[in-house]
Amino acid sequence: MLPSAMPISIPPTIEKIPEIASLPPSTRTDMLADANAPGPWRLWLYNGSRGLITTVILIWLGHDAVYRDLPVIASMLVIATLLATTTFLWHFWTITRIRGRIRAGIAAAAVNDRTPICLRCGYDCATIEADACPECGAGLFVSPRG
Ligand SMILES: [Zn+2]
Repeated sequence: MLPSAMPISIPPTIEKIPEIASLPPSTRTDMLADANAPGPWRLWLYNGSRGLITTVILIWLGHDAVYRDLPVIASMLVIATLLATTTFLWHFWTITRIRGRIRAGIAAAAVNDRTPICLRCGYDCATIEADACPECGAGLFVSPRG
Protein backbone atom coordinates (compact mmCIF):
# COMPACT_ATOMS: atom_id res chain seq x y z
CA MET A 1 0.00 0.00 0.00
CA LEU A 2 2.93 2.33 0.72
CA PRO A 3 5.45 1.52 -2.02
CA SER A 4 7.61 4.54 -1.17
CA ALA A 5 8.18 3.13 2.33
CA MET A 6 9.33 -0.31 1.10
CA PRO A 7 12.89 0.35 -0.12
CA ILE A 8 13.98 1.97 3.15
CA SER A 9 12.43 -0.59 5.51
CA ILE A 10 15.07 -2.37 7.63
CA PRO A 11 14.09 -5.95 8.52
CA PRO A 12 15.53 -7.44 11.75
CA THR A 13 17.21 -10.40 9.98
CA ILE A 14 18.53 -11.20 6.48
CA GLU A 15 15.84 -13.88 6.03
CA LYS A 16 13.13 -11.20 6.43
CA ILE A 17 14.34 -9.12 3.45
CA PRO A 18 11.31 -9.14 1.07
CA GLU A 19 13.29 -10.39 -1.96
CA ILE A 20 14.42 -13.42 0.09
CA ALA A 21 11.16 -14.04 1.95
CA SER A 22 9.17 -14.57 -1.27
CA LEU A 23 11.66 -17.00 -2.88
CA PRO A 24 11.02 -20.78 -2.85
CA PRO A 25 12.87 -22.38 0.16
CA SER A 26 15.61 -24.15 -1.88
CA THR A 27 16.38 -21.03 -3.96
CA ARG A 28 16.36 -18.96 -0.75
CA THR A 29 19.02 -21.20 0.86
CA ASP A 30 21.23 -20.93 -2.26
CA MET A 31 20.80 -17.14 -2.47
CA LEU A 32 21.69 -16.68 1.22
CA ALA A 33 24.76 -18.92 0.82
CA ASP A 34 25.89 -17.09 -2.36
CA ALA A 35 25.56 -13.72 -0.60
CA ASN A 36 27.49 -15.10 2.41
CA ALA A 37 24.56 -13.95 4.58
CA PRO A 38 24.85 -14.48 8.36
CA GLY A 39 22.00 -16.08 10.35
CA PRO A 40 20.18 -14.01 13.03
CA TRP A 41 22.62 -14.85 15.87
CA ARG A 42 25.78 -14.17 13.90
CA LEU A 43 24.21 -11.02 12.42
CA TRP A 44 23.35 -9.50 15.81
CA LEU A 45 26.58 -10.66 17.48
CA TYR A 46 28.40 -8.92 14.64
CA ASN A 47 26.27 -5.74 14.88
CA GLY A 48 26.50 -5.68 18.69
CA SER A 49 30.26 -6.14 18.86
CA ARG A 50 30.82 -3.52 16.14
CA GLY A 51 28.45 -1.21 18.07
CA LEU A 52 30.36 -1.82 21.31
CA ILE A 53 33.74 -1.07 19.68
CA THR A 54 32.32 2.10 18.07
CA THR A 55 30.85 3.18 21.44
CA VAL A 56 34.18 2.63 23.25
CA ILE A 57 35.98 4.73 20.61
CA LEU A 58 33.35 7.53 20.85
CA ILE A 59 33.53 7.56 24.67
CA TRP A 60 37.34 7.62 24.53
CA LEU A 61 37.35 10.47 22.00
CA GLY A 62 34.74 12.53 23.85
CA HIS A 63 35.79 11.76 27.42
CA ASP A 64 37.63 14.98 28.32
CA ALA A 65 35.40 17.29 26.30
CA VAL A 66 31.93 15.89 27.05
CA TYR A 67 31.58 12.99 29.47
CA ARG A 68 34.02 13.67 32.33
CA ASP A 69 31.79 16.06 34.28
CA LEU A 70 28.51 14.19 33.74
CA PRO A 71 26.76 12.57 36.74
CA VAL A 72 26.92 8.74 36.79
CA ILE A 73 23.29 8.24 35.72
CA ALA A 74 23.69 10.64 32.79
CA SER A 75 26.91 8.89 31.74
CA MET A 76 25.13 5.53 31.77
CA LEU A 77 22.29 6.95 29.66
CA VAL A 78 24.80 8.38 27.18
CA ILE A 79 26.59 5.01 26.94
CA ALA A 80 23.31 3.08 26.50
CA THR A 81 22.09 5.52 23.83
CA LEU A 82 25.42 5.39 21.96
CA LEU A 83 25.45 1.59 22.11
CA ALA A 84 21.87 1.28 20.79
CA THR A 85 22.45 3.88 18.06
CA THR A 86 25.77 2.51 16.80
CA THR A 87 24.45 -1.08 16.86
CA PHE A 88 21.43 -0.02 14.77
CA LEU A 89 23.67 1.87 12.34
CA TRP A 90 25.88 -1.23 11.91
CA HIS A 91 22.72 -3.29 11.34
CA PHE A 92 21.52 -0.79 8.70
CA TRP A 93 24.92 -0.98 6.99
CA THR A 94 25.08 -4.81 7.09
CA ILE A 95 21.51 -5.30 5.83
CA THR A 96 21.99 -2.78 3.01
CA ARG A 97 25.26 -4.37 1.89
CA ILE A 98 23.97 -7.96 1.94
CA ARG A 99 20.70 -6.90 0.31
CA GLY A 100 22.76 -5.44 -2.56
CA ARG A 101 24.55 -8.80 -2.98
CA ILE A 102 21.23 -10.69 -2.90
CA ARG A 103 19.70 -8.37 -5.54
CA ALA A 104 22.78 -8.78 -7.73
CA GLY A 105 22.42 -12.57 -7.40
CA ILE A 106 18.72 -12.47 -8.37
CA ALA A 107 19.47 -10.17 -11.33
CA ALA A 108 22.37 -12.37 -12.51
CA ALA A 109 20.09 -15.44 -12.48
CA ALA A 110 17.50 -13.64 -14.64
CA VAL A 111 19.55 -12.00 -17.46
CA ASN A 112 17.47 -11.66 -20.67
CA ASP A 113 14.38 -12.52 -18.66
CA ARG A 114 12.06 -11.07 -16.01
CA THR A 115 13.03 -11.32 -12.36
CA PRO A 116 10.39 -13.18 -10.31
CA ILE A 117 10.76 -10.55 -7.58
CA CYS A 118 10.83 -6.77 -7.89
CA LEU A 119 14.44 -5.70 -7.24
CA ARG A 120 13.36 -2.25 -6.06
CA CYS A 121 10.62 -3.08 -3.52
CA GLY A 122 10.77 -6.88 -3.13
CA TYR A 123 7.21 -7.49 -4.37
CA ASP A 124 6.57 -11.07 -5.52
CA CYS A 125 5.96 -10.75 -9.30
CA ALA A 126 6.22 -14.47 -10.19
CA THR A 127 2.50 -14.88 -10.92
CA ILE A 128 1.89 -11.68 -12.91
CA GLU A 129 2.33 -11.14 -16.67
CA ALA A 130 3.26 -7.44 -16.70
CA ASP A 131 6.76 -6.12 -17.48
CA ALA A 132 6.67 -3.71 -14.55
CA CYS A 133 6.13 -4.20 -10.82
CA PRO A 134 2.45 -3.50 -9.94
CA GLU A 135 3.54 -2.27 -6.52
CA CYS A 136 6.20 0.33 -7.38
CA GLY A 137 6.36 0.43 -11.21
CA ALA A 138 10.00 -0.69 -11.54
CA GLY A 139 10.88 -2.64 -14.72
CA LEU A 140 11.29 -6.41 -14.25
CA PHE A 141 13.31 -7.24 -17.39
CA VAL A 142 17.06 -7.75 -16.83
CA SER A 143 19.16 -6.69 -19.85
CA PRO A 144 22.58 -8.26 -20.33
CA ARG A 145 25.48 -6.00 -19.30
CA GLY A 146 27.81 -4.31 -21.78
ZN1 LIG B 1 8.38 -3.03 -6.95
